[in-house]
Amino acid sequence: MIYDIVARLVHVKGLVQGIGFRPFIFKLAKKNQLQGWIHNLNDAVEIKIEGEKTHIDLFLSTLRSNPLPIADIEKVEVLKADVENLQSFEIRDSSDRSDSITRVSPDLAICDACLLDMKQQARRKNYPFTNCTYCGPRFSIVRDLPYDRIRTTMSVFEMCPDCSLEYHDIYDRRFHAQPIACNDCGPVYQWADKDPQNIGEIIDRTAEMIDGGKIVSIKGVGGYFIACNAMDENAVSRLRKKKKRYGKPFAVMFSDLENLKHFARLNESEIKSITSFRRPIVVLDEKKQLSNSVSNGFPSIGAMLPYMPFHYLLFEKLITPAIVLTSGNISEEPIAIEDDEAFEKLGKVSDAVLGYNRSIYNRVDDSVAIIVNDKERLLRRSRGFVPSPIRLSLPTEGIFAAGAELVNCFAVGKGNEALLSQHIGDLKNMETYTFYKESIDRFGKLFRFKPELMACDMHPDYLSTRFAQESGLPLVEVQHHHAHITSCMAEHGLDEQVIGVSFDGTGYGDDGNIWGGEFFVCDLNGYQRKKHFEYLPIPGGDKAIKEPWRMGLSYLHRSLGERVWDIDIPLMKNRPRAEMELLVDSINKGINAPLSSSAGRLFDAASAIMGLVHHATFHAESPMRLEAAVSEQHNNRYEYQTKSDIISFIPMIEEIVEDITRKKSQPYVALKFHNTIVDVIVETVKQLAGKYGLKKVVLSGGTFQNKFILSNTERLLSVEGFEVFSQQRVPTNDGGIALGQMIVASKRKELKCV
Ligand code: ZN
Ligand code: ZN
Ligand code: FE
Repeated sequence: MIYDIVARLVHVKGLVQGIGFRPFIFKLAKKNQLQGWIHNLNDAVEIKIEGEKTHIDLFLSTLRSNPLPIADIEKVEVLKADVENLQSFEIRDSSDRSDSITRVSPDLAICDACLLDMKQQARRKNYPFTNCTYCGPRFSIVRDLPYDRIRTTMSVFEMCPDCSLEYHDIYDRRFHAQPIACNDCGPVYQWADKDPQNIGEIIDRTAEMIDGGKIVSIKGVGGYFIACNAMDENAVSRLRKKKKRYGKPFAVMFSDLENLKHFARLNESEIKSITSFRRPIVVLDEKKQLSNSVSNGFPSIGAMLPYMPFHYLLFEKLITPAIVLTSGNISEEPIAIEDDEAFEKLGKVSDAVLGYNRSIYNRVDDSVAIIVNDKERLLRRSRGFVPSPIRLSLPTEGIFAAGAELVNCFAVGKGNEALLSQHIGDLKNMETYTFYKESIDRFGKLFRFKPELMACDMHPDYLSTRFAQESGLPLVEVQHHHAHITSCMAEHGLDEQVIGVSFDGTGYGDDGNIWGGEFFVCDLNGYQRKKHFEYLPIPGGDKAIKEPWRMGLSYLHRSLGERVWDIDIPLMKNRPRAEMELLVDSINKGINAPLSSSAGRLFDAASAIMGLVHHATFHAESPMRLEAAVSEQHNNRYEYQTKSDIISFIPMIEEIVEDITRKKSQPYVALKFHNTIVDVIVETVKQLAGKYGLKKVVLSGGTFQNKFILSNTERLLSVEGFEVFSQQRVPTNDGGIALGQMIVASKRKELKCV
């Protein structure tokens, strides 16, 4: 019988390098009795195959089914090729072809096979750096490309003969696993006090300390973390004092999913997210309380599961099922990665510091997600996600997007992709700004990026804006709330006119006021501000962000005028009368009282008037406590007024005061407030849709981190027949601004406006 021998050339694009893709293809070719070769191009993997047509078809259908869970195949191109009568299938060397894009895998949680090796394989018995081509550190250890051991922080460790055999054996799971290591040759954990202990002793001591109420700093994948027993109130409150972190909930690592289920409610989507190889922190509804000060009154838990070999070893010895695992930093500084710095700084906030002798090159904090309407939404995009690119519908080559300021993240453009940086933080902090500049350099080098066009916020005082200006390159300034909407549009590949609802705390408006409650009709190039929340003075400016009572008084004064002095609510007793009068005076005279249409400030005001938060202990505490206060179910809502393009909540504020005076409960008022905000969005969108004939609605901005607002707005707008788009892979807070800036710059370049 004569078979039909054919040949094909296959290009596979997407994340297919550094994750065992080539050996996988090698084995797949062998299985299907195909000859040929495979090698890495910079922007793809190229495969030549020869063999029977039916075998080739089978090979291709397996390939198209995206068989490796960590691979992210974007495109499979198949071309006819000449039959060369090749005799074998081989893996050819990859070459670095200058500045085309090469993918870098994010850091991956340890896989099940490696966990088994840690129990069964003598050389890897309890070895805390066990990894293979399907798991382990990646981005955090990469210095340069192509991705080879010599260009990672593993370069200082010489492979032992056994590791070397595995590394070179195509049939081994560790074939070309760049961080390959074992007990004989790899990195080791060590105490800051240099006490020489083996891994068994180290785990025992760490577990004993944590169970005994002590605080231990431990080097993680992308930085140091501070751990203590999440069931021990003394330990957790001591950590709060030491870290000077008084309000914001701590993230908690649970030993396993079963234990987590005792403490939190999880649906299928939440389980999928929290157990994925990316292992983000997922904010879940609390079922049973851990120690009080872990979540500090919030009915939720920022939970995660073990992802490093060390975590698994530790939980085998720990009695407690849950540990606080918070970033190793002091207040707003970036998470510590240098051992000496960690030993010194974290030594002051913890009882012991545990490091290891492999350096972290790229700092990556834990990622944070929420699940709303069964979709994972990243609130902080870092470990496990960065530096995976976001594919866009427009070319991005050479565009640098500087991002915002408070929750900064920048982006560089390659091809038609945006490479978003890890979470950087608040640039006003000097160390964070240094980290920003250093990361820009590193991204530039790693991805062979040369900036040609800078995109930034319109805010003249943002450090990111100044950074972009100082480059001397052509500049595209993007209005903050337009960037929020276009970030979401970019994520969903939208390039048309839409209704944009952009709600957040603060952003510089093109009239010089502070915006944040905005309804746009917009496209990628520009926007028309169709409706917005009424301007109110923010007495004290930035000070009011930390002191929501100021905004409360501003709204009360606008609603009630001089009657404000007669009402009997806790806010009015919060500060001395003289101080409040002075504040009202500054409002009247317009001194140090910038105008704002911000939704965030409205949440601040409501939260303060209700007596929830007068002074915030962390960023966005007011809106978070307001959301947390919702527990009842009713459909009541407050009144508001729309006069031409202005939406006024003065009637609502009066009604809230009435409700409080009538001793309505906080959960009742909080829900009524939330219902009102959802109603404002839905009704305003309906009006705009009628007028402009639009059916697509884009929701973005920090306010949509509020699960209640997002889920109900999406649901109700869908019921009304709208196509609703909200952010998922990129944060809806200012961490997503860079993506929006990039797509606007790209569009304006296309239109030749720059
Ligand atoms: Zn593995
Ligand atoms: Zn070894
Ligand atoms: Fe914003």
